[in-house]
Amino acid sequence: MSALITLDHNEPSAAPAEPAYTLGDVDALGRYPVHLNGELLGYVSRWHGTWSAVTRTGLTLPERHPDRDAAARSLAQLTDPHTPAPAAPSTPQRLTAHAHLLDPALSATTRNIVSAAVALARLDELAWLPLAGYPGADNRWLLRCLACNEFRALNDLSPWDGARFWSHLRGRNGDNIPRPLIRHEGCLPVSEHADALKVFARAPKPVCPCPESHPTSPQAARALLTTTGAAWRQRDPDALTALLTRLLGPCPASRARATALLTATGKPPALTAN
Ligand SMILES: [Zn+2]
Ligand SMILES: [Zn+2]
Repeated sequence: MSALITLDHNEPSAAPAEPAYTLGDVDALGRYPVHLNGELLGYVSRWHGTWSAVTRTGLTLPERHPDRDAAARSLAQLTDPHTPAPAAPSTPQRLTAHAHLLDPALSATTRNIVSAAVALARLDELAWLPLAGYPGADNRWLLRCLACNEFRALNDLSPWDGARFWSHLRGRNGDNIPRPLIRHEGCLPVSEHADALKVFARAPKPVCPCPESHPTSPQAARALLTTTGAAWRQRDPDALTALLTRLLGPCPASRARATALLTATGKPPALTAN
């Protein structure tokens, strides 16, 4: 009985106070920094409608959260000195060798690969250079603006790099008009974009001239997708990287490749704007 009384007495202090964290402004990668007592704990970012947290050392916490505060709270609890240190979270093994082509959080499925190839072809036409792997339509993608690149270089300015949502860039309802019309602060005026795109966007080639031999026929595309599916299921990072390099690596025939992939998977190119 006395033990119970002691327990009751101690109960209020047994629940640790929530650690106070501060959430900073979104950075170029679409991440919100989380600080505790002035010390950087890590970052939280939106992912397909949920929020995930990454420690400053790059460890992704396994939980998905409904909002940014919940994600920040789990980071703060993980690192709060008053909270017993939990066991290292068991994150699923991810294949990261191809992260520059396809975000490691996206499975290398045919659907994701074809979407990525279509997006990459459109980026070439819109004079954006991807600086990271395709992240899916509704996530931020780190891109470099090529439309103003030469103008900036002439004025001793570094290239403009920043995160954009692919779902905004591709246009809505299949109209193919990128939004916003103003590419970013400090870019060329909208009236000069069409001419700049003609000059700086890659001139599309009907056939791939690269040593990697990117597929531009439906037959070649279909064969590569089949092999890639097997490599993904077998978790073979070397094979997967080599295959994704052919499917998603930079190529002056990126539009022909995207069309071949769409045809190989039975999607009419004209109807697929994503
Ligand atoms: Zn620009
Ligand atoms: Zn090529």
